[in-house]
Amino acid sequence: MKRFTSAALAVVFLLCAGALSYGGEHAAHWSYEGKEGPEHWGEFSEVCKTGKGQSPIDLPKEVKTPTKSIGFNYKPGPIKTLNNGHTIQVSVAPGSTVTIDGKRYELLQFHFHSPSEHEVGGIPYDMELHLVHKNDKGELAVVGVFMKEGKENPVVKAIWYNLSDKVGVEKPVEGLKLNPADLLPADYTLYRYSGSLTTPPCSEKVSWNVLKANIEVSKEQKEKFLSVIGKNARPIQPVNERTIE
Ligand SMILES: [Zn+2]
Repeated sequence: MKRFTSAALAVVFLLCAGALSYGGEHAAHWSYEGKEGPEHWGEFSEVCKTGKGQSPIDLPKEVKTPTKSIGFNYKPGPIKTLNNGHTIQVSVAPGSTVTIDGKRYELLQFHFHSPSEHEVGGIPYDMELHLVHKNDKGELAVVGVFMKEGKENPVVKAIWYNLSDKVGVEKPVEGLKLNPADLLPADYTLYRYSGSLTTPPCSEKVSWNVLKANIEVSKEQKEKFLSVIGKNARPIQPVNERTIE
């Protein structure tokens, strides 16, 4: 019976993936509310429910362990934008890297959440940017940047302006070179902990690096995101035995 269930789920998975890949209007198979919401993600991937190292978490205002550094080596390059039904995602050309604990990771894509997924002292920000990196061993490192309502953000403006109307269809942006470094605050002081992807399959052993300083986004830009995607923050997960540096 259990076997049948997982086989059936696998079929649903394939159907969803197929629908998305040619830009169909079918809803994706998991969501942020209702029957396919976060409480049910364990049905798609066990670790979402049973994992002890899940993300996001509530970060303390002050951390006693000294913060380690991070090195950014981001470069301007062409981008592709995508509304994948869960977020607005921007793929970048190879060549932008980050160095964490002496390991070099390559930037693959970045995307947005609203409200923020991580919180500080129980308080969320208006939005959160996730810059997703992978090293040559296949290990993932994500840099999180909080976004607070304020001035219009010129990089966000360029991205929102260049979105495809179709869900699941990647759009190469002509005549624009974007430097992801323009989305970073001036101060790289950060929180570091071991967590997970915040969407199914919720895979763990992700190095999370959440910057303490935030960048700004206008109210209109945030509202535009919410009108296209809707709220897309996974609820806070227990810290369990983990240390936050
Ligand atoms: Zn994310």
